[in-house]
Amino acid sequence: MKIKSVRARVFEWKGKTVPPQGNFCSNAMDLLYAPQETMSTFRFHSWTVVEIETDDGIVGLGNVALAPAIAKAIIDQYLAPLVIGQDPWDYEYLWQRMYRATHAWGRKGVTMAAISAVDLAIWDILGKSVNKPVFKLLGGRTKEKIPCYYSKLYRTDLNEMQAEAQKFLDQGFTAFKMRFGYGPAHLQKGVAENLKSVEAVREVIGYDNDLMLECYMGWNVEYAKRMLPKLEKFQPRWLEEPVIADDIDGYAELNQLTSIPISGGEHEFSLYGFKQLLDRKAVSVVQYDTNRVGGITAAHKINALCEAYSVPVIPHAGQMHNYHLTMSTLASPMSEYFPMHDVEVGNELFYYIFDGEPVAENGFVQLDDDKPGLGLTLKTEHLADFNIVE
Ligand SMILES: [Mg+2]
Repeated sequence: MKIKSVRARVFEWKGKTVPPQGNFCSNAMDLLYAPQETMSTFRFHSWTVVEIETDDGIVGLGNVALAPAIAKAIIDQYLAPLVIGQDPWDYEYLWQRMYRATHAWGRKGVTMAAISAVDLAIWDILGKSVNKPVFKLLGGRTKEKIPCYYSKLYRTDLNEMQAEAQKFLDQGFTAFKMRFGYGPAHLQKGVAENLKSVEAVREVIGYDNDLMLECYMGWNVEYAKRMLPKLEKFQPRWLEEPVIADDIDGYAELNQLTSIPISGGEHEFSLYGFKQLLDRKAVSVVQYDTNRVGGITAAHKINALCEAYSVPVIPHAGQMHNYHLTMSTLASPMSEYFPMHDVEVGNELFYYIFDGEPVAENGFVQLDDDKPGLGLTLKTEHLADFNIVE
């Protein structure tokens, strides 16, 4: 079996969107004086879809959501020529070929995201070629079904947040992640607002359920040091990405500071990036995303690393590429779960582009033992709402 063609297309959403709410999530732009930009940089409404076809007619699907147009250009100009004519079963060789050929200017960020998309499509081909789901090629089933945590609860009106938490508590979720709306720029008033929102959600879900707290890189070390002791009484399962991804010393300092585990990794890349985080004890929960970190070939190695360090892996986002790794790895106790809803931040676009993404039932998602590959197909239902760039 040889790879015949690689096609990368950008799906740009032009359908209805929900406008950003006031302080719906702190983020890395908050520390700059750029009030108009801060929310817009948090939303992404396009996605790169990669289809790789083999000479025996199998089509593998990969995807990447980071900087889609640039990812497409990297795939078209640099990565496709490296894999065309090659045997997809030589996936490690192909991964190294893409990684090393782009190393001078790649390594992390959008280049690694582009490599991830090609690698995902290759793994989809492998599964389809032997009629097995990808997780069966990675170690198989380590759990009956995958527990998942409800991940939304952006900072809106507190009554709305409570109603949202109640709705998904009623659907059987036992773990919830909420977003902070305020950071250092909002001074002491923001500290109080952040605490009020955690209290409001705890009031609904009680203390028999898990609560995770998300900063999305919108704080700095000094602010996190003020917040963490005040948050301990709410017993969060973790506090996520308090500072920008490059501040590994900051993560390490905060992770030693309190009893609250610090999590991160959705903006980290490659096996080397995670080795650094783990060596420095910078995170207590690893949250790579398979379509950024280097695809399944890289994520599988990071899972082994985390197992050896006894650090749980709970990948960023739901999405099939992550579920297959979570299912096949004992080091991964649960998955994140983005609910399907009207297009807002952009995470939910996955449901509009692909068919096959599992819907949570009673706080669990299930993978099918008989669905080959990643189990995704391109959806036709919403095609009219996309501008597709070839
Ligand atoms: Mg996150």
